[in-house]
Amino acid sequence: MLKQIIIARHHGFCMGVKRAINIAEETSANETNQVTILNEIVHNEAVVNRFKDQGVGLAKRVEDVTEGTLIISAHGVSPLIKQQATAKGIKVVDATCPLVERIYEIILRVVKRGYHIIHFGEMHHDETLGIVGHAPDSITVVSTAEEIEALPDWSDRKLGLTVQTTAHEESFAKIEKLVKEKWPHIEIFNTICNATSQRQAAIMDLAPKVDMVLVVGSNTSANSMRLAQIADAICGKGILIGSAMDIKDEWIAEGTGVEKIGISAGASTPDFLVEDVIEALVDKSGGLAQVIQPERRRKRAQNNV
Ligand code: SF4
Repeated sequence: MLKQIIIARHHGFCMGVKRAINIAEETSANETNQVTILNEIVHNEAVVNRFKDQGVGLAKRVEDVTEGTLIISAHGVSPLIKQQATAKGIKVVDATCPLVERIYEIILRVVKRGYHIIHFGEMHHDETLGIVGHAPDSITVVSTAEEIEALPDWSDRKLGLTVQTTAHEESFAKIEKLVKEKWPHIEIFNTICNATSQRQAAIMDLAPKVDMVLVVGSNTSANSMRLAQIADAICGKGILIGSAMDIKDEWIAEGTGVEKIGISAGASTPDFLVEDVIEALVDKSGGLAQVIQPERRRKRAQNNV
């Protein structure tokens, strides 16, 4: 029988996502022309649908936007996309996360000094496409150790390694070791963002204490999927759910041995979805499960902030 629901110390919206949503909300409230968001403002269906319901347009390609204001999502874009929009008379509002912009700055700085960049990330992720667009001839994207093994000698080239902001810390540590063995002179730029590291550390702390971890987030959210994978590797049951509706009764039925469930959420998951999941689990336990909030939230509640 479910007895405890333990919430991860760090979960849910990060600084970059909150900032992008605020920018999009302010822009759609203040602009009189048609406002369109390029790609998903953040990778979460609930957030995206809320903007859709408010009449904000959504476009996958700048070619599909002809007028008005275009909001660039937290994941950023290639400079070429912004130039194409401006050339069509479209006003561009940039909600790229400052931590993604930091990667652009690093790359532009070292490429100017003759470096070639190996970027460890998902090939078709919006963030990767934006990064590559900043120096298309000087970046090679790799997603696996095998792809690194297959790269040319490059021992006489100045090399740098960057990484997707939401990458798995342990996987990156292995990649870092591998590239250093292959090219001892390579310069490493660990560009995994704080929000990702904190959420991964929190789930590694939580997973051994529970029988199952539910991670609330979209299956388009790289960091949410990663959290579920980490939990699964530790406690054997790490499941990504989009909302409370995805919870299956059989997960906590008598005889499953599930007494403690841990809850986390990706950096693009709004709080209300997490609250819904907690409420649904408490209901399914017949109101008996105790909800254990992380220390910092308890303190905030006590101080009424
Ligand atoms: S996960 Fe990190 S890089 Fe991505 S939007 Fe959030 S703070 Fe920015």
